[in-house]
Amino acid sequence: MFDRLSGGHFKFAPVVKAALCALGVALPNAAWAGEVAQIPESSWRLKKTPHFDIRYQAKWSPPGIQLTLEKLHRLLRSDLGTLADWLKNEPILIYIYKDRPSYLNGRFTPPDWSEGVAVYAEKTVAVYDQKEAFKLHRIIAHETTHLLFEGYFSGKGRNLPRWLNEGLAMLMEDGAGSNPQNYSWTQAMDAMTKDQIIPAEKFFTEDLNIESSAEIVNDWYLQAFSMVHFLLKKHSRLQFQNFCSRLRDGITLQEALWKTYKISSLKKLEEKWRGTLKNAGGASARQSYKRLIESVHHRSRGKAEFSPLQRR
Ligand SMILES: [Zn+2]
Repeated sequence: MFDRLSGGHFKFAPVVKAALCALGVALPNAAWAGEVAQIPESSWRLKKTPHFDIRYQAKWSPPGIQLTLEKLHRLLRSDLGTLADWLKNEPILIYIYKDRPSYLNGRFTPPDWSEGVAVYAEKTVAVYDQKEAFKLHRIIAHETTHLLFEGYFSGKGRNLPRWLNEGLAMLMEDGAGSNPQNYSWTQAMDAMTKDQIIPAEKFFTEDLNIESSAEIVNDWYLQAFSMVHFLLKKHSRLQFQNFCSRLRDGITLQEALWKTYKISSLKKLEEKWRGTLKNAGGASARQSYKRLIESVHHRSRGKAEFSPLQRR
C-alpha cells in the first residue's frame, strides 16, 4: 500500500519501530486464517450514529465512541469535505474487535504489526478495543482519515505523498480524539527542537536511507504532522483542498505548492514552515512524544510492511 501510494523509499532495519498505520492492507494471510472460529462480524452488536455503523464484538460498546465519531465526521467534512462527497450520504463502517487476537484473526486479515486497517472499497475501518478509550478514538480517527484521503487519490490512480497522508491522519487524531496530557502531536510539535528537523531534500523524497535510527523515523512522522499542520491550519481549508486536488490531477508537488500557496520550492516551504515553529524548548519533543508513539500506536515498522505484497 505504501509502495503504491508513495513509492516506499524508506529502508528500514527490522528492529526499527515507529508510528505506523496499516493503510488498508487486507491480504489473505494463511498464518492467521481459520485459527480461531469467529462469529461473523455482520452478526455483532450494532450501534448507529448519523454517519457511522459501529459493529462491536464485545458486550459493551467502547465508551464515548458515538460522540467521538460524529465529532470526527464534522472535522473531516469541514477540513476535507470537497475531497469526499460521499461522506454526506454514505455511512462509514467501523468494526471493533474485542481484543487484538480476534482482530488479527478476523476477516480483514490485517498485518500483525497493525492496530487498525482502512478498507476503502468497503468504506470500512477495522480496529480492536483498547484499554484506554482515547487511544481507540485516536486510532479510529487516524485510519478513517486514511480511508477518506486514499479513496480520493486512488479514484484517479495518482500518487499520494506519504508525508501528506500520514501528517493529515495525525492531524485528525489530535482534532477528533481526546488528548490527555502529553498525548498530542501538537504538544510534541511545539517542543520540537532544531536538531530534529530533517532537511527538505531528505524529508520530501523520503530517502532517509536509515538503517537503524528509529529516532529519525519518529522525527520524520512529527515533521509530516507539522508540515500538514502548516499547510492546513496556517492557510485556508480551501487552499489545502485545492492543493490536494492539484496533486491528484497529476502535477508535481512543486507546481501544486506554487499554484496554491505561491511557494516556489520545497526549500522555501521548509523555510516558511520553520518560521511557524514555536520551538518551545524545554524537554525535547523526542521525550514528550515518545510516549505518544509507543503507547498510542504500537506500530512496528519492519521489512514486511514494505514488501510488494503489502498492497491493497
Ligand atoms: Zn497512518
